[in-house]
Amino acid sequence: MKDTIGGAMSKMRVVQVTQPNGPFELLEREIPEPAAGRVRIKVEACGICHSDSLIKEGTIPGIQYPRVPGHEVAGIVDAVGAGVVGWTEGQRVGVGWHGGYCGHCEPCRRGDFFACQWGQVTGITYDGGYADYMIAHSSALALIPEELSAIEAGPLVCAGVTTFNSLRNSGARPNDVVAVLGLGGLGHLGVQFAAKMGFKTVAIARGSDKEPLARQLGAHRYIDSQAQDVAAELVKMGGAKVILATVTNAEAMSAALGGLGINGKLIVLGAPQEPLEVSAGPLLGGRRSVAGWYSGTSIDSQDTLSFSTLSGVRAMTEVFPLERAAEAYQRMMSGKARFRVVLTTGR
Ligand SMILES: [Zn+2]
Ligand SMILES: [Zn+2]
Repeated sequence: MKDTIGGAMSKMRVVQVTQPNGPFELLEREIPEPAAGRVRIKVEACGICHSDSLIKEGTIPGIQYPRVPGHEVAGIVDAVGAGVVGWTEGQRVGVGWHGGYCGHCEPCRRGDFFACQWGQVTGITYDGGYADYMIAHSSALALIPEELSAIEAGPLVCAGVTTFNSLRNSGARPNDVVAVLGLGGLGHLGVQFAAKMGFKTVAIARGSDKEPLARQLGAHRYIDSQAQDVAAELVKMGGAKVILATVTNAEAMSAALGGLGINGKLIVLGAPQEPLEVSAGPLLGGRRSVAGWYSGTSIDSQDTLSFSTLSGVRAMTEVFPLERAAEAYQRMMSGKARFRVVLTTGR
C-alpha cells in the first residue's frame, strides 16, 4: 500500500454532507480498502457539478447520509480489489456520473448499460470525489490520456461526456446546422465539440457581450436571445438539425423549438422544473422531435477524453483546494463561475 501504511498517511480528508441542507464538513476518515470488483483511486481533482446540489439539498429520495459528493473525478488507481480485470495500480482514471453497471439486468443485457437497474451513481449511491481517496466500481472507470491534466479531465467526464456523447449520437452530420442553447458549464463545451465535429455551429445566449467568447469557442454564428428571435434566426439558416438545450429554462427551450428544420431534434440536457410547451403541428409536419439524453457510461467518458485530446477541447475552469469545497460549491451555484469549478487535493 506504499504511502498509506501507518501514521497520518492512513487517514484521508473527505468533505461530506451529513443531512439535507446541512453544511459541507471537512473531516478525516480511514483510507478504505477496495472490495471485490472495486478499485481505490487517489483523487487528484474533482469537478463540482450543479447535480451535486441533489446531495447537498437532498432533493432526490433514498440518499444515505453522510455522503461525499463528486462525480467529476480524476485520479490514479492505487489499489485494486479482488476479481478486477483490466485495471492496474498507477493508471490514470476518471469517474463520472455513471457509477458502474451490473452486466446482467435486462437493460444491460440489451446493451443499455447507462440504464442498469443496479442504479449506481458516483457521489450519490456511493461516496464520490470530494476526498483524497475514493472507491469506485471498475466498470465506472475511464482511462485518462497522458496529455490531459487531472484538472482538465475532471469536468470532461460529466459536462464533457454529456455534450460530446449527445452530439455524436444526435444524427447530425458535418455541415448540418447545430445550435447550442446556453453558454454556461455545459454550453461552452457543447459549442467547442459541435465546431470540432464539423457542424455549422450556432451559439445562443443572452446578451451581445457573450458573442466574442462564443466565437472564441468556435461558433460560426451567434444569436443574442435578448435582441433577436431565436427561432426566426435559425429558420433563416435553413433550420437546425439539432438544438442542444443546455439551459434550465423551459421557456427558452420552447421558444427555440420553432427553429428546428425538417427532421430536426431538440435535445434536452438541462432540467427545468417547469414543463416544456410543444405544439404538435410542427412535430408532425416536419418529423421534428424532442428528446432527452443521458450523459454516458465509462467508455463514453473515455471517448470524450480521447476526442478532447485530439481536438483541443477543454473546459474553462476555476480551481479551489479541497478544503475550500464549501466556497467552491457556492461559486458554482452562483452561476458566475467561468465555467466549471474544480477541487484539487494537492496530490
Ligand atoms: Zn454532473
Ligand atoms: Zn445492469
